[in-house]
Amino acid sequence: MTRENKKKNEKIKMNRFFMIGCHALLAISAVVLIYLYGMRKNLIEDCKQELLEGVSRSAREVSNRIENKFITLETIQDLVSRSYEIGQESAEPLESARERYAMSSLGVVDKNYIYYDSSGESVPDISHEQIDRVFSGAKTVICSTDGYAPDGLVFAVPYRKDGEIIGAICSKYPAGDLIAGLESKVLDVAELIVDSAGNLVFSSNDFGEYIGNELTWEEVSRNGVKLTQKKQFDDEMLKNQSAVSSAKNRLGERIYFAAARVMSYNDFYVIHFTNSKIVEEKIQNTMLWAYLMLALMTMCMIFLIVGAAVTYSKNRKKIYREAYENPLTKIPAKTKHKLDAQELIDKQENKYAYVTFDIDNFKYINEVFGYEYGNRVLIHIANVIKEFASEKELYAHISGDNFALLLIDEGTEEELSQRIQKLFTTITESQGEDSDLNLCKLKISCGVYRIEGATDINHVRANANIARTECKKQVLHDIVYYDEALKARRVEERELEYDAEDALKNGEFLVYFQPKYDVATERIIGAEALIRWNHSVRGMLSPGIFVPLFETTGFIIELDMYVLEQVCKLIAAWLKKGITPVCISVNLSRTHLYEQNLVKRLVSVVKKYNVPPNYIEFELTESAFYEQSGTLLQVMEDIKREGFRLSMDDFGSGYSSLNLLRRLPVDVLKLDKEFLAEDGGGDDIERGKRIVMHVISMAKDLEISVLAEGVETKGDKDFLQEARCDMIQGYYFAKPMPMSEFDSLYTEKDSNILLEKG
Ligand code: C2E
Ligand code: MG
Ligand code: MG
Repeated sequence: MTRENKKKNEKIKMNRFFMIGCHALLAISAVVLIYLYGMRKNLIEDCKQELLEGVSRSAREVSNRIENKFITLETIQDLVSRSYEIGQESAEPLESARERYAMSSLGVVDKNYIYYDSSGESVPDISHEQIDRVFSGAKTVICSTDGYAPDGLVFAVPYRKDGEIIGAICSKYPAGDLIAGLESKVLDVAELIVDSAGNLVFSSNDFGEYIGNELTWEEVSRNGVKLTQKKQFDDEMLKNQSAVSSAKNRLGERIYFAAARVMSYNDFYVIHFTNSKIVEEKIQNTMLWAYLMLALMTMCMIFLIVGAAVTYSKNRKKIYREAYENPLTKIPAKTKHKLDAQELIDKQENKYAYVTFDIDNFKYINEVFGYEYGNRVLIHIANVIKEFASEKELYAHISGDNFALLLIDEGTEEELSQRIQKLFTTITESQGEDSDLNLCKLKISCGVYRIEGATDINHVRANANIARTECKKQVLHDIVYYDEALKARRVEERELEYDAEDALKNGEFLVYFQPKYDVATERIIGAEALIRWNHSVRGMLSPGIFVPLFETTGFIIELDMYVLEQVCKLIAAWLKKGITPVCISVNLSRTHLYEQNLVKRLVSVVKKYNVPPNYIEFELTESAFYEQSGTLLQVMEDIKREGFRLSMDDFGSGYSSLNLLRRLPVDVLKLDKEFLAEDGGGDDIERGKRIVMHVISMAKDLEISVLAEGVETKGDKDFLQEARCDMIQGYYFAKPMPMSEFDSLYTEKDSNILLEKG
């Protein structure tokens, strides 16, 4: 896929993402709006319900008041009819009853429609039609339209004498009093009382405000409760004697109204009006919260969608960029590098070698000197390789501390090695010169695969990586070339790696002991524990085969702990038998030095077996000292502080620095067998011996004991005796042997001193 196509795809994906986001937002908004609409409807319904309850309450109260009025009039009628004749001169009985019942007026109407007031006044001819109803036995409330009670109601009940109706007894009453104090507490309403003919009996003054000023009473109320044509309202009214509804007035405003029948006096209805403004006000608060919530939710959604889109886009870009360019070193990254390398290899214009390298223990460099320092080192390397590669060559930062180069390889292997070596020298030298970078010495491990023909880049890289892994195991080489034997070895190693853990559980690992002898007395004064693997298929394997491998996998840590346990068991057994133990040394791989709890683990093992730590010596190989650092020194000091002995193994096998001896707290210097090697012959041997003598005398100055390893001949032994070496370990005295054998050798006193060999 081309870069353009990828970009196009990205865009399409982004658009799709946005579309999905927007649709989701729309869908959620729609759901919320529907919910809000429903909520609003419910709130309005609630208001209507309140209106209905309010009007029913009022109607009940009005009914009570009317009923009370009638009862009072009937009681008065009972009282008065005994002492009062209609039309008699003195209306005193009426007046005293009026006063007694605190009425504003009281009077009697005779069959001739003449009204006689308690004050003695008479009003002729009051509304025949209504008063007739009373004459026929009904209790009536007369809505006064005449001069008699222009602003009020007249309550009238039959006036009987000897059981016969001879007139009506009446009392005037202000209409407002019927509903005074009954205003709804919940909703602001206009209250009306109308009669069944639609005549307004009473209305609150602000009635017009509620139904819209433009609306006349005739329009809304002429037909009494039939304010609306809605059948539902009528049906409700009929069924429940109360109903609620809404209608629009001429101004387009919605009016809500509820009516309830006054039960004691079927002619009257109480009507409550309110308008949409008042209802809106009431639901406003709740709705406001809902709107706020909606707005908040919408904003959150928008933020989320935009945030997700931005993050998505950033991540895509980052992933895309990182696949093509390392974000730290800004040189090509693995994906791009592989594509470009494949192209160059396929073209076959040049022969190429694939070079892959990394820094040993880079993880540790990061931990000790900080990630920022680690980053500086990586940038430095990237800058060097950028300058180093020619136009038709490639370079890349694959991952972590792993870099790769595709170099033109038209010459010999040696020429190629020289070129690569030059690169590494440039890296380390320029690093050394820069004070920001020279905190530690870099050790590079490099694998090279010389490509033949057009091959798959993955295959090329895999081979170069095999060589790089091999290089990690070789202390003194920093370039290893891939060959088929290496591959076969790698396969073998994979098998060993795979078998290791089970082998440890199955007891396939054996600890051998090689005695150490005092040069002067030639008695056993210690031993070195050496691991062997009695492999179930391959038989006895020497540590040279698996120790370097396990150092790369980390399994060596378990193995060394296992050796230490076996050693502790032997010493503990001796102590139990009353035998004075000799100090036994255990090899500690340099891998341990990067382990956090190393010293704690060592101490816990000796404690487990109750072994005094001075019977244990730890051998650290000389190459561990290359990576001299505060940590190494710290670890060594900690080991010493716990009472263990410490030795420097293989001294002389690498670039030993005598200077180092002064700084490191070692008890024993183990001279490598190389010193005694006779390879060179003649002068070389002589020079080697002189060096040994000087090293011994210097070590003695520093109060460090010297042990010579690999002593195979009497000549060597004699020379070492002469050179005042302290201890000897080698085939001349004894080869490494199984634990039981060493146990008997040491504990059977007779064989403890070895007879001089011929
Ligand atoms: P090393 O610690 O220097 O051990 C000494 C090696 O020299 C041993 O090899 C021993 O068998 C060999 N040797 C002793 N005397 C003579 C002699 O007179 N002539 C010759 N040619 N060789 C002699 P080995 O046991 O094969 O161990 C090899 C290396 O493997 C050890 O070197 C050590 O670095 C490593 N190793 C062995 N066991 C362990 C272990 O338990 N843990 C770790 N981390 N490394 C171990
Ligand atoms: Mg050793
Ligand atoms: Mg050694």
